[in-house]
Amino acid sequence: MSMSFYRQSYKRLTQIIFEWQDIDRLSLLCSFILLEVTLQWAWCLMVWLNHNQLNNYYNGSQFELLWLWVTVAVLFYSWLLIRFNQYATLPKNLFGWQTLLATVYTLHMFITTAMLGYNELMAGVTLVGSAMLAMILIDRKIVWLSFISYFCFILIVSILPFYGVHLPSMRQYPGVSTYHEYYSQLFGQGSPSNLVNQVLLSTKPSTELLDSLSITAKEVAQIKAFKSSQLFWFATYFYFAMPKAIVIVSVFRAMLSIIERNKLNIQYNADHDALTGIKNRRCVLDWIHQTLLKEANVNSDNQHYSVILLDLDSFKAVNDTYGHQVGDQVLKEVAQLLEKAMERQHVVSRYGGEEFLLALPQTSHETALLIAEALKKEIEAMVIHLEADESFQVTASFGVATLPHHEVKRLQATYLQIISADKIKALRSYQMSEKLIRSLIDLADSALYQAKHNGRNQVVSANLLVIRNQVPVPSFELV
Ligand code: GH3
Ligand code: MG
Ligand code: MG
Repeated sequence: MSMSFYRQSYKRLTQIIFEWQDIDRLSLLCSFILLEVTLQWAWCLMVWLNHNQLNNYYNGSQFELLWLWVTVAVLFYSWLLIRFNQYATLPKNLFGWQTLLATVYTLHMFITTAMLGYNELMAGVTLVGSAMLAMILIDRKIVWLSFISYFCFILIVSILPFYGVHLPSMRQYPGVSTYHEYYSQLFGQGSPSNLVNQVLLSTKPSTELLDSLSITAKEVAQIKAFKSSQLFWFATYFYFAMPKAIVIVSVFRAMLSIIERNKLNIQYNADHDALTGIKNRRCVLDWIHQTLLKEANVNSDNQHYSVILLDLDSFKAVNDTYGHQVGDQVLKEVAQLLEKAMERQHVVSRYGGEEFLLALPQTSHETALLIAEALKKEIEAMVIHLEADESFQVTASFGVATLPHHEVKRLQATYLQIISADKIKALRSYQMSEKLIRSLIDLADSALYQAKHNGRNQVVSANLLVIRNQVPVPSFELV
């Protein structure tokens, strides 16, 4: 249940990011910022409620200023979000709204970084993460400007202390002088000794232990206070940075899965015919190249390679009589019939208008002729039903051509020789087989032409035409 809720929200998030209008994406960014400033406001409230325990760790007047600013930010982004939700369509001054949102957020980052004190974790997540997230959601020019301003700000804030300029910070570490005094003495350059750890970890260290380290109980308490204030500030930075990091990583994950899905869609559309859903011409030509030469099983003794080209008979008349839509329906039904009838190791494709090309690796000419005969009968028997209880039938003519075993072997050997000798040619090996595949299909086409000429609805063997000298002997060569 919770998992499916998560999936639902995740799907919605991806939809918002990639399918929504600009104003919706701006609203989403505004919601993320509002979530962030609200969490910061909650932190201020927690500090105020635990004032008694924490008051040594921060400067009170600066804390009030920070809380005031965070409150203003919460109110501002709530107002902004309400305004954005009022827009049903794209507002004319969208750029203005985006600039306002980004400017106030950059200012907010300046103020929080300055007041809480510069911290690598917080600054890193904001500098890189927020900029990347905002780039997906709003105008990139604005984000660039914010990114550069914050980058310069961080640079200045981190360099100034090296020149003796100490910026006012809300952060305070009690017992810091005692800590520093004892730090080098106790800890040296390395990590604290076991003895020191024993002192710091025990609630009431023994007098002998304190004496052995020449340290008083008061000084130990101060060092301990320093440690807890450090822990408090570390937790604060973690709290300020982590929700933002989680949101940013989730959005990026969503973006990557969308890109992945789009890539698969693009690949599918590039390989398939939009009307019939079967493979298209480009795809089948690649596939023939792949199965004829690249993935060829050199040791097999059944390397005949057949192709069947089939063309629906008098299809123009179908369109003219029943309309183009019915023509489309016929193409879809024939495509389905062919796909169902063919075996898995064969490929069915739409080669052109009402022409289909079937590629049959490791299939002899006799078998290919039998397959074509069977398909011819199935198409002949297929009844196309129309809405008004009308129906009709179609037929197709077939041309079958086969590269016999010895030719395939010869071509495969030549191919291997060429690609092992010439790396550049290997990269463009598709070009090499183009002419060869075209010759094979042209041969099937001449048989198809003969089938039409002989009266249609029949299968003609191209190889037989060659033997009978009715078509010229083709030359199958790699370029
Ligand atoms: P033949 O028996 O000699 O092949 O005659 P034919 O009428 O089938 O051949 P022709 O080349 O004269 O006409 C092919 C027709 O196929 C013309 C064209 O409008 C139609 N066609 C091509 N693609 C499509 C399509 O995607 N949908 C529809 N409905 N018709 C198409
Ligand atoms: Mg036709
Ligand atoms: Mg045709």
